[in-house]
This record gives sequence, C-alpha cells and structure tokens, in this order.
Amino acid sequence: MAGVSHRHRVVVVGAGFGGLAAVKALADAPVDVVLVDANNFHTFQPLLYQVATAGLDADDVAFPARGIFHRQPNVDFRMRRVTGVDLDQRVVTFEGGDDLGYDHLVLAAGAVSADYGIPGVNEHAFGLKSLADAVALRSHVLRCFEDAADEPQLIDDGLLTVVIAGGGPTGVELAGGLVELFTKVLRKDFPTLDLRRARVVVVEMADRLLGTFAPRLSGRARRTLSRRGVEIMLGVGVEKVEGGAVHLTDGSRIPTRTLVWTAGVVATPLARTLGVAEGAGGRIAVAPDLSVPGHPEVFAVGDIATGSDAKGRPLQGVAQVAIQGGRHGGRMICAQLEGRPTKPFRYYDKGSMATIGRHDAVAELPGGIRLTGTLGWLAWLGLHLLYLIGFRNRANVLVNWTWNYLTYDRGSRIIGEDIDSVT
Ligand SMILES: Cc1cc2nc3c(=O)[nH]c(=O)nc-3n(C[C@H](O)[C@H](O)[C@H](O)COP(=O)(O)OP(=O)(O)OC[C@H]3O[C@@H](n4cnc5c(N)ncnc54)[C@H](O)[C@@H]3O)c2cc1C
Repeated sequence: MAGVSHRHRVVVVGAGFGGLAAVKALADAPVDVVLVDANNFHTFQPLLYQVATAGLDADDVAFPARGIFHRQPNVDFRMRRVTGVDLDQRVVTFEGGDDLGYDHLVLAAGAVSADYGIPGVNEHAFGLKSLADAVALRSHVLRCFEDAADEPQLIDDGLLTVVIAGGGPTGVELAGGLVELFTKVLRKDFPTLDLRRARVVVVEMADRLLGTFAPRLSGRARRTLSRRGVEIMLGVGVEKVEGGAVHLTDGSRIPTRTLVWTAGVVATPLARTLGVAEGAGGRIAVAPDLSVPGHPEVFAVGDIATGSDAKGRPLQGVAQVAIQGGRHGGRMICAQLEGRPTKPFRYYDKGSMATIGRHDAVAELPGGIRLTGTLGWLAWLGLHLLYLIGFRNRANVLVNWTWNYLTYDRGSRIIGEDIDSVT
C-alpha cells in the first residue's frame, strides 16, 4: 500500500487521458504512484455522445482504472474525490477529511461544463461531460418519446424537440447522432407518432459550426446536418432557460424539455482552490514545462491547465493535448529525479476530426490533409477504436457499430430507473 511506502511518492489526480499518460510515463521510475479519481473508471469522452444516442452501452466507453495498471506494479489506485491541495505542505485532501502527502503531484482533473451565468442553464440543461450525463440524457430523450406516445399533443409543447447549445465537435456529433436515432430507429419503435414534428436544433453564437476547423469543413458539416434534418441557428446564443422553453438572444423562444449544453467548459472546481495563477476558464496557468509556477514538483496537464504551443497558440481542450501533456509531466518528474533540467512542452498536433453521422465526417490532419465523407468517417472510426482503452471495449464497440451499421438498429434503448426529467 502507498500508505506504508518509503519511496518517493507521486500522486496523480484524475484517471482521464492526461492522468493515465502521466502514470504510464512513470512505469520505470523508482517511485510509488498513487492514482486518484472520484470514479473507479476512465471515461472515453469522445464517444459519450454515442452512449447518449443509444449507439453504445455505458460500459463500452469506460474502463476500470485498477484494470489499466495490472502490469505496472508501482501503481496504487484510490477512488476518492480530491477537495484541495496544500501546495506548501505537499498534501492532497480528500472529501471526507483525510489526506495524502506527495513528493510530486500531477493535476489532471479535467474540466466541467460552464454555464457562463446564463439563468436556468444549471437547473434545466443536460451536460455531456460524464458517463452519468450521457446515460441521463439517453433516458430522458427516450422517456420523452414514451410520453409523446401517451400524449401526442405535447409534441407541440416541445416534448420531442432537442436544443443543443454549442456547434463545436460535441454539438455537431450529438446532433448527427440524435437525428439518426429519431429517423432510423425511433421511427420504427413509435410508428404511430408523427416524427416529422420531432426537432433537433443546434444553436451556435459564432457565424459557423466547428469554429476550430477550416471554413470549408464547417460549411460541409452545416450542409450535411441540414440535409439530414437538423435545424441550425448561427449567430445566436441562449439568453435564459426556463422549465419547458429556451429563450434565445434574438428574442425567439423554443419550446423544449431537452436542452443539451455543449457550449463550453471551465477547469474543474479543484483548480480554483489552489490559489495559483489562472488563465482562461479558470485553468491553471502553467510554466512552459507544464509545472505550476513556484512549485516545480507540481505539474498540471490536460483540460485543467492552460498553456500554448511552440507557435504561441493556446492549447485546446482535446485528448491529444492531455495525453501528450500527461506523458511530458511524467517524463519531467523522471528528469528531476535524475537531476536533469526540465524541458518545455512541445505539442505535436495530430489534427482533429468530427463525425456528422453515417458515412460522413470532417478531418484535418497534419500536412494540410483534409478528409471528408466516407473516407473521413472511416478515419474517424479507426482512430477512435485505436485510442479506446481495453480489448473488450474495442471488441464491443466494433460489434455494436457493425450491428448498428447493418441493421440501422440501436441496442441500448433502455430507460434507466429513477431518472427524472431535468427540465
Ligand atoms: C462529449 C465530449 C466529446 C469529446 N470529443 C473529443 C474528440 O472527439 N477528440 C478530442 O481530442 N477530444 C474530445 N473531447 C475532449 C477530451 O475528451 C478532453 O480534452 C480530455 O478528456 C481531457 O483529458 P483530461 O485528462 O484533462 O481530463 P478528463 O479526461 O476529463 O479526466 C479528468 C478525470 O479527473 C477526475 N476528477 C475530476 N475532478 C476530480 C476530483 N476533484 N477528484 C478526483 N478526481 C477528479 C474525473 O473523474 C476524470 O476521470 C471531448 C470531450 C467531451 C466531453
């Protein structure tokens, strides 16, 4: 157990992409690693929207944290929520009161949805940041369809309208997945419902979808989604949300029971408790080597931190930034233990991609390569399978995708018990 160890102790907070990469980078180091996460599993967030749209089971995109490190004997796992860090005493505090000392610390606790103070978002919107969020959203949408079968007149009150705030990759992927669920699957489940009245609406403040992609790819995503039945509202934001309706900044009101908030994230609340310099979104402003200024024994990686790449552009909140940052943090700890100086973090941009639905995705790869359509979609499928953790998960996802593709069916249409509608 880590508690009786006398070796140098590295505590890693967060079993997301960044935390796992940091732990792996410490495999051969003469240290005891304690990985801490509030959940006992790693979540593969890029596929959460598929759980929310009944394409995958929750288990397919999660992997037990203890199972990941069976072959790495210097790792112990603690399922605890970290509530604070005493950077001077070098101690992390857990919910419930007890604490754990460290010699080195890696903070990789990610981000949470940001409501930007917009009235009603916190109370009424669904998030899509965690497995619980995805399952709750799926159950809620399916429950709305069951309610509509009982009382079809409620469709006019927005019972089958899903509003997605945010036209970034998550909003686009969710919109594509929902419209496919409605038109290909639920149409057969609910043959008496007039599903032409079901709506998926994407609301985006900017003047285009996928703002971090090339304008040509944004245009393509917009056209494809529109053709498939998604309503896209650009240049307009959410002003307030009340039970049963979303009010937009252009004065319009959309009756709905389902607002999904994908419009932005801020660093997890833990970051704010540290008392260190913050960047945009409350993220920890790290030094070029990803250490926390004034604390060379503490590294912050992934979505909880803010930094810039070699060209001075801010690092995005994406999986590769977290993976490469986590690996760098682990390696810099090894360097310090060996008395070597640390090096600045150099991010290698492997590109980005977003799927728009069956047979269509947009991808921007290094060297200016842009893929769209079926080729982009196949690249998207392959890369997500590759990065998914665990053979069982990959096999399950492959089987589910093949099944969905061949039959237009979605097996995971289970409404969870005891999940109340949020709006
Ligand atoms: C729906 C969705 C889709 C996405 N799609 C893509 C995509 O297609 N491509 C891409 O590159 N990126 C995508 N991203 C972004 C990507 O998933 C994140 O950038 C990445 O997960 C960040 O990794 P991380 O290690 O910093 O944090 P996370 O992966 O969020 O992990 C943080 C971990 O810390 C734990 N934690 C948080 N607070 C505490 C605490 N106080 N105590 C203990 N544990 C704590 C959490 O339980 C979690 O396990 C997506 C994100 C979402 C939400």
